[in-house]
Amino acid sequence: MDLKCKKMDCKYNDRCACISKGIKVARNCECATFEKSNKIVEEQRQDISRDMFETAPDIHPFRHNRSMSIECGAECLFNKDGLCKANGISVMNGKNAGVCITNIEP
Ligand code: SF4
Ligand code: SF4
Repeated sequence: MDLKCKKMDCKYNDRCACISKGIKVARNCECATFEKSNKIVEEQRQDISRDMFETAPDIHPFRHNRSMSIECGAECLFNKDGLCKANGISVMNGKNAGVCITNIEP
């Protein structure tokens, strides 16, 4: 399972990779495992007057996490009996938590 996540202020986010052993995705596709981190996110630390240009966040090298399990309550083509069977998912920065955008309605 390759999980890319743009919810940078989550404590499980390591440069766009999710380092949790497993996550739960709610019916509305929000990541229920999200926990706000206290660490300062790189984007927030950026000083534009000093850097002049916005820098892209560091992307973690490709990491395929075979043992990661995703329990999911959303209606989705990849949902088989409450488990996500996609080869990988992308999670975007939602208002309250990360949101799975790999969702395809059956
Ligand atoms: S929001 Fe969810 S998918 Fe993203 S890093 Fe946090 S726990 Fe992982
Ligand atoms: S791809 Fe579908 S089954 Fe997998 S986590 Fe996202 S919404 Fe759930």
